[in-house]
Amino acid sequence: MTAGMYAARHGLRTGIIERMMGGASIINVEKVENFPGFSEGIMGADLAAMTQEQAMTSGAEFVMGEVSGISTSGDYRIVSADSGDLQAKTVIVAAGSTLRLLGIPGEDEFTGRGVSQCATCDGPLYSGEVVGVVGGGDSATDEALVLAQYADRVLLFHRRDELRAQRELVDRVLAEPKIEVVWSTVIEEVLGENTVSGVSTTNMATGEKGARELSGLFVYVGLAPNGNIVDGLLETDGGDHIPVNISMETALPGVYAVGDIRQHSSSQLVSAAGDGATAAIAAFRYISGRSWD
Ligand SMILES: Cc1cc2nc3c(=O)[nH]c(=O)nc-3n(C[C@H](O)[C@H](O)[C@H](O)COP(=O)(O)OP(=O)(O)OC[C@H]3O[C@@H](n4cnc5c(N)ncnc54)[C@H](O)[C@@H]3O)c2cc1C
Repeated sequence: MTAGMYAARHGLRTGIIERMMGGASIINVEKVENFPGFSEGIMGADLAAMTQEQAMTSGAEFVMGEVSGISTSGDYRIVSADSGDLQAKTVIVAAGSTLRLLGIPGEDEFTGRGVSQCATCDGPLYSGEVVGVVGGGDSATDEALVLAQYADRVLLFHRRDELRAQRELVDRVLAEPKIEVVWSTVIEEVLGENTVSGVSTTNMATGEKGARELSGLFVYVGLAPNGNIVDGLLETDGGDHIPVNISMETALPGVYAVGDIRQHSSSQLVSAAGDGATAAIAAFRYISGRSWD
C-alpha cells in the first residue's frame, strides 16, 4: 500500500490488487508498538485501514482480486487475477507471507476448535483457561502477552533454550507471572475429542515424552513467503524469497519485489513500507526514463 501510495503520488496510474483487505497480515494484531510516529502503539486494523485510505486518497485504485500469476508481453507485464488481467509497464510484488503451520497430527482437525493463529480474535474465548502458544520469535511472544490478558495460564512452547524475539518482548514475557515458558520442547500431537484438550510433547534436550492439558493452541512458528505468485517469471531463493537489488529491482526489468517476500527482508512493517517507497520511485524512474543521478 505504501508502494501504491508513492506510485500514485508520482502521477502513475496505479492499481493495488488485494485478495482480502489492505494489510491483511496485521489486521488481527492487537497493538503494533514499533511503527514510527505512534509512540503509544496502534491497533493493526487501524494502521492497515489508515494506510489503505492514504493510498486511495493519493489516487491509487483498489482492485479486489486474487493474483494467480504474472507474465510478460513485450514491454508490458500482465498480472492475472480472478478479477481479470491487468497490463502494466511495471509491477511491484508485495504479496507478503503466510503463517506457517506445525504439520502435526490433530492440527488440521482442530483448527477452529482450539487451534488458532489469531490471539486477538480468539483469546477472549479462553478466559480463565490454560492455553498454549508455539514459537519463540516476535509473533509468538507478542501473542502470548495478548493471551495472558484473558487466559488463566499461558504455556509458551519453544524448541530452543532461548527466545529469539526482541529483548523488549522477551523481558515482558519472562516477567509475566501467567506465562510459563516450556523450554526445549516440541509438540508432537494436538489431543482432544470435539475440541482441544491437550498436547503431547517431546523434550529436545532429554528426549523425554510428556503431555500438557490445555484448551487452546496458538501456532506462531514463522512465516512462509508467498513466492508462488512469481512462479514461471522469476527465480526465488531456497526459502521462496525473491532476490532484489538495493532499488528493489528483480532480475526482470520493470518488476520489483518488496517487504516480506523479498530476499533478506527484515520482515517488519516499517521496512516493508520503506521498500515500497523505494520500488515505486524506481518504477517511476523506469517508466519516465530518468536516471538516479
Ligand atoms: C502475528 C504477527 C504480528 C506482527 N507484528 C508486527 C509488529 O508488531 N511490528 C512489525 O513491524 N511487524 C509485525 N509483523 C510483521 C509484518 O506484518 C510484516 O513484516 C509486514 O506486514 C510485511 O508487509 P508486506 O507488505 O510485505 O506483506 P503483508 O503485510 O503480508 O501484505 C501482503 C498482502 O498481499 C495480499 N496477497 C498475498 N497474496 C496475494 C495474491 N495472490 N493475490 C492478491 N493479494 C495477495 C495479502 O492479502 C496481504 O494483504 C507481524 C506479523 C505477524 C504475522
